[in-house]
Amino acid sequence: MELVTVRPEGLYCPQGDFYIDPWRPVERAVLTHAHGDHARPGSAKYLAAAPGAAVLRKRLDAASVDVFDYAVPIDINGVRVSLHPAGHVLGSAQVRIEYRGEVWVVSGDYKLEADATCMPFEPVRCHTFITESTFGLPIYRWVPQRQLFDDINAWWKANAQEGRASVLFGYAFGKAQRLLAGVDAGIGPLVCHGAVETVNEAYRSAHVKLPATVRVGEIPASEYKCALVIAPPSAQSTPWLRRFSGYSDGFASGWMQLRRAAQTRRRPRFRPFGSCRLARPAAGGFCDRSGARHRHAWLQQRARKMVAATRPASLYVRYGIRRRGSRHAGRSAK
Ligand SMILES: [Zn+2]
Repeated sequence: MELVTVRPEGLYCPQGDFYIDPWRPVERAVLTHAHGDHARPGSAKYLAAAPGAAVLRKRLDAASVDVFDYAVPIDINGVRVSLHPAGHVLGSAQVRIEYRGEVWVVSGDYKLEADATCMPFEPVRCHTFITESTFGLPIYRWVPQRQLFDDINAWWKANAQEGRASVLFGYAFGKAQRLLAGVDAGIGPLVCHGAVETVNEAYRSAHVKLPATVRVGEIPASEYKCALVIAPPSAQSTPWLRRFSGYSDGFASGWMQLRRAAQTRRRPRFRPFGSCRLARPAAGGFCDRSGARHRHAWLQQRARKMVAATRPASLYVRYGIRRRGSRHAGRSAK
């Protein structure tokens, strides 16, 4: 029995008549999290996990968003639906769908490594797991968090000693807060762009502990030279940055790595879920549609970890990229 299929609007549960992270407006959407490529405006009704309420209501029509706590099941047309932490950003969830004894779980983005800014990924036993694969692309080379923060702290400290502001670009929702929670706030002031500070407030209202931050203008300009400035990638080359003259900058975002790679090495263009396909699982390891062994070793490794935890009988991988016109769908079995 298939509890999730693909329709032009997105992933669809026919028994419950709802969509998961639809890319077109629908009547009822269950959302995995508030990032713009998952929570798109225009649908009549949204359901999401409670910790993400503040961010979602800022981004979508607030009246249309209903939230409920993790692991609390609700009934949608006879289908039992619950949300479980995905460890990605505040309020990120895996969607557990149960109907007549069959259990499917759909992940949005998820992260197995815990961090201080959101509930850690919770393995959910199921018959079928549909996993997101965006960050399985081989151009994403994640380094362990501790090493990342050691590097950032050393870079910030060296800049501060030389009287230079450190500007770090990172996605305003999720990445920026992970940076704030992980850096050594004793080095200097933490200055946040308004877009980041707005999300910080949502995190704090959900009782996530973040170090003290200020907006520009809230400290004397003379203190910028030893500050770590967190700004969204969209702030690059804007007049907003001029006040930090002579700054050193860095990127802390997979998206930016992707964009830069696309510019310099003609990597595949990212098409969020537009080419999403689900494939029936087959015996063996990761395969592409022609049956060739999948090359994304990192994705395999992550999926194996996840499979060990959730033990699905079937695993679907949805690919959101299109490589120069050719579609890719992945599949695997445990
Ligand atoms: Zn995301």
